Amino acid sequence: MIKETKEFLIEKYNITENVLDIYDKAIEDVSDVFKELDSIREFNQLKVLNALQAEMIAESHFTNSTGYGYGDIGRDALDKVYARIFNCESALVRPHFVNGTHAIGAALFGNLRPGDTMLSVCGSPYDTLHSIIGIDNNSGIGSLAEFGVLYKQIDFTESNEIDFDKIENVIKNDSSIKLVHIQRSTGYGWRKSLYISEIEKIIRTVKQINPEIICFVDNCYGEFIDTKEPTDVGADLIAGSLIKNIGGGIAPTGGYIAGKHKYVEQASYRLTIPGIGGECGSTFGVMRSLYQGLFLAPHISMEALKGAILCARIMEIAGFEVLPKYNDKRSDIIQAIKFNDKEKLIQFCKGIQHGSPIDSFAECEPWDMPGYSDQVIMAAGAFIQGSSIELSADAPIREPYIAYLQGGLTFDHAKIGILIALSKVLSDKK
Ligand SMILES: *Cc1c(COP(=O)(O)O)cnc(C)c1O
Repeated sequence: MIKETKEFLIEKYNITENVLDIYDKAIEDVSDVFKELDSIREFNQLKVLNALQAEMIAESHFTNSTGYGYGDIGRDALDKVYARIFNCESALVRPHFVNGTHAIGAALFGNLRPGDTMLSVCGSPYDTLHSIIGIDNNSGIGSLAEFGVLYKQIDFTESNEIDFDKIENVIKNDSSIKLVHIQRSTGYGWRKSLYISEIEKIIRTVKQINPEIICFVDNCYGEFIDTKEPTDVGADLIAGSLIKNIGGGIAPTGGYIAGKHKYVEQASYRLTIPGIGGECGSTFGVMRSLYQGLFLAPHISMEALKGAILCARIMEIAGFEVLPKYNDKRSDIIQAIKFNDKEKLIQFCKGIQHGSPIDSFAECEPWDMPGYSDQVIMAAGAFIQGSSIELSADAPIREPYIAYLQGGLTFDHAKIGILIALSKVLSDKK
């Protein structure tokens, strides 16, 4: 960091010399880790470029459709581009998915029937899925449980590993298991993300016992962090959000599902309705943004990942426990920081908010967010509302007060945001 930058930060943002010293040490430590990321980014850029070329994407794919949206060539071709990138038969990429939860919900509702059991092998799934499954207190809203779909869960072992013995045992003894739910990212958990190799091992374990079981992966935050995706190693169905990695910060909204054709098709009947599926749906002129975002996504995802890694090192030097550590292998863009202190956690989130390009003047406060059981604080000064490929931090207000940081469209912005946040934490006053 040059002198001009430091002076600017000290003068305009009250960043202390102490925080800048921590930064100087951290940036040196992370430089080797960054080199590896550049190779992954390069590979994924090639993968995306080649998929766009192979589907002969042209200006005409960016035109708008109206009404039913029959024959929207931009929409149909983007499905094919995604299917190529994910090395699978079929994909459903739509602005009509209101978020990642909706895409995951369509995948589950589309493929599970009364009497089937859904088995989570990664402990409690992401908070917003609890209402879908019917394991929260929200009854009467049409959860899977209300439609007679059963649910089982296998927790991580005490050392936070996948419990393969238990998976084998449960599947051998329960022929009603129709779908295994695998969550790649940490969600609001204190655990590492699942590597592609671990996902592969889970799938192999499941399929050896019963090849008919659908292996579903919640791929949120995982896209382009590795050279492979879950569908490269046998996942039957995956889903994710377009305002995370794969939208590249440009997609204004939406979600995707990808995988085996028969499962994607079933899911499409829950995006719309039976008989219609993915063949209808006008696209409001957003297709160019979905394509352009996808093109940028390998780069943007790595910018975000670099931010997470720097954050890990900075916060660790500052004395906080972090997960993963800066030099751990990663499979998502999430950085968890444990504060053990409610006020420090809130100050950190406020700092990220103050460092944002949009709504930097706002004070974020804990609130009762739909779909979450604890109060949640969310720092998000984003160009696209709630976009978490943009620099953002959020936390359920519960012990041990862990903040989850993710995103950053540019590494430089992530860096500044983190320095402001740490300054606020260390000064520990409003
Ligand atoms: C973000 C996320 C989702 C979906 O969240 P939305 O806010 O609905 O897009 C689901 N699972 C995981 C693990 C996530 O990180």
